[in-house]
Amino acid sequence: MADALEAARQADMQLARIGWRLALSNVALCDRREAGLGLQLHTLDQFEGGVRAAAKTHFKFASDVAVEGVVPGSPADRAGLREDDSLVRVGTVTFAGLNGAPGTTDRLVASQLAVGALPQDGPIEVEAIRDGKPLRFTVYPVPICKSRFELRLASDFRASADGSMVQISSAFFDAYPEQNVAAAIAHELSHNILRHRDRLDARGVDFGLLSGFGGNVKYFRQTEIQADLLSAYLLANAGYDLKVSIAFWKAFGPSKAGGIFRTRSHPHWRDRVATLEAEIGKIAARGERPIVPAMLAERERPLDGNWQALLIRN
Ligand SMILES: [Zn+2]
Repeated sequence: MADALEAARQADMQLARIGWRLALSNVALCDRREAGLGLQLHTLDQFEGGVRAAAKTHFKFASDVAVEGVVPGSPADRAGLREDDSLVRVGTVTFAGLNGAPGTTDRLVASQLAVGALPQDGPIEVEAIRDGKPLRFTVYPVPICKSRFELRLASDFRASADGSMVQISSAFFDAYPEQNVAAAIAHELSHNILRHRDRLDARGVDFGLLSGFGGNVKYFRQTEIQADLLSAYLLANAGYDLKVSIAFWKAFGPSKAGGIFRTRSHPHWRDRVATLEAEIGKIAARGERPIVPAMLAERERPLDGNWQALLIRN
């Protein structure tokens, strides 16, 4: 059991590191921001049944909400917080006041949102418990793009973005190195930065089985290509090697053409890769980082469905 719990922690932290790097390096591109501490939280009540007792022991829970891990180099790391510190208070957030049904992530989500909503420009006092002893820390947060990153333990290759959260299945981390998975996460984060869910809703499109049919298709294709293009900027700004992401899409596209590469509603992966490669050529020619691409102005406009204008055919 301890091995399984530790493996789950390592997977969560891989995602947390990627999410942190993208959200921090691209804050200039995000109009929705939050206080970035670099704390990956977990809660006792997200563990069910017999696992809960094992989790309580393994992760040394002394309160309901604890530090699953700390992103290296983050404000929380610099302040001295460590994994398995149990949390009593972070700024004005007292976790005892946040409710959550057993076996759900309700309390986890509420905790993440409450901490993210703290002021981004002042010191945050943290009260924690480590090895039974009360400790105090002062964390100096930094503004980052507002987004939650959630790992779904599953063997399928699915990633999604709902406007405020990026979710990715653990299968990606089992199959690919961390920097390859960053390409998929950057694509999903791009959907949220470009407010695609809201803008698709404004067009009245169907997110269910009909997403690949009729008048919906052109809007989905436009959002997919826009997310591909913006993802290249997010990766470049975060210092990822764009050659790696191209190699990843070339390998991933044909072998796992479901999930991200849903066939009907999405342009052909080969054309998407060609389009991405052309954009990467433009990015390589620019020296400044971060690059704030002009396409961000898109998010203020209704989708027009003109995906052909964006796509380079291979
Ligand atoms: Zn997408």
